[in-house]
Amino acid sequence: MHKNFRNVGQLVYGRGALDQLGSILDPKRTEGEGYFVFLVDDWFEERPLPGRLPVLAADVVRFIDASHDEPKTGHVDELRDEILSERGLPSGVVGIGGGSVMDLAKALSLMFTNEGSSTLYQGLDLVQRPGVWHCGVPTISGTGAEVSMTAVLTGPEKKLGLKCEWTPFDQLVLDPELTASVPTDHWFYTGMDSYIHCIEAETGRHFNAFSKSYGDGALSLCREVFLDEGAGRSPGNDEKLMIASLFGGLSLTYSEVGACHAISYGLSYVLGMRHGIANCVAFRKLRDFYPRGVDEFDAMVEKHSVSLPEGMAAGWTDGQISRMAEIAYGLPHMWDHAIGPDWADEITLDRLESIYRRL
Ligand code: NAD
Ligand code: ZN
Repeated sequence: MHKNFRNVGQLVYGRGALDQLGSILDPKRTEGEGYFVFLVDDWFEERPLPGRLPVLAADVVRFIDASHDEPKTGHVDELRDEILSERGLPSGVVGIGGGSVMDLAKALSLMFTNEGSSTLYQGLDLVQRPGVWHCGVPTISGTGAEVSMTAVLTGPEKKLGLKCEWTPFDQLVLDPELTASVPTDHWFYTGMDSYIHCIEAETGRHFNAFSKSYGDGALSLCREVFLDEGAGRSPGNDEKLMIASLFGGLSLTYSEVGACHAISYGLSYVLGMRHGIANCVAFRKLRDFYPRGVDEFDAMVEKHSVSLPEGMAAGWTDGQISRMAEIAYGLPHMWDHAIGPDWADEITLDRLESIYRRL
């Protein structure tokens, strides 16, 4: 069956686009109890950005610490319960930050209208009702979370998204100026997520003309930003990387991720390692799967003198390594894409453990 994909509803792109947020929110204030919830990455808390937001007296602003943890089901449930009981249903949710804050905003929007814990809805099409209106404002480029159909949450039992037709944002505000302050290591790790999405999407059996068109666009932008003459940090490259992230996400939506994301999920689940760096650590050791991609990736690492941890496995217990292998093995859709329906003949828990031991 083909995916019946819901794209984001509306999108504004360009330097300074954030200043249009007020005129976007005003007409929506007739919904619910007439107030908005703003989730803002707390890196901005003492900086000018909050002063530029169209926050009215009734609105709720929460600063979110995204520096350690990825979003958790418990946090979404707590926020929902607290805000609903104090204020009733909001007109909408605005998430301003990287993938962590955007996923939190998507999940919170859905959980305002769906009862019980968000753990009940981790998976495909388990959400029962549309959420409240929600808007994403990315401040780092790469994950594609701004356009994806999933809100990735870590729960007590699994790291899995709330994935349904109501997950994508109703509105995106893509303002490349907001990404200028991203530290260079995060700029690279998160930017590489977009590059890896495209390489994995094109190296598997679900690849198709839709995925290729967006993937080719994203890859050529990634090369301009990270590899070619003129590569590096600049306002022009911030503009390009924001579109690469969007296109990488779209390429992936109509294809699938593969071996790198499966291995990376094991690292994030067991060690709490952030998605972007976990992908980088895994990808460089997956030459068997992506020979040309890994060569190009290594050239980009060298060009930007990015440091990536080596020899980490020496510090892991056998128990941790086997848990990582189980997590990676438990993502059949990724292996099916990367290898084919008989993937289990090639991918065994032993082989996965040996990949982890190389990291
Ligand atoms: P992030 O949201 O985890 O943030 C990384 C760090 O950068 C944080 O410390 C944050 O405070 C800081 N930061 C953010 N914007 C900044 C700015 N403009 N200036 C300075 N610092 C800034 O970063 P990410 O890599 O975008 O997101 C990772 C998350 O995205 C993970 O939770 C992962 O599960 C999720 N993800 C989701 C999807 C999806 O399709 N929904 C896809 C990939 C990853
Ligand atoms: Zn990714």
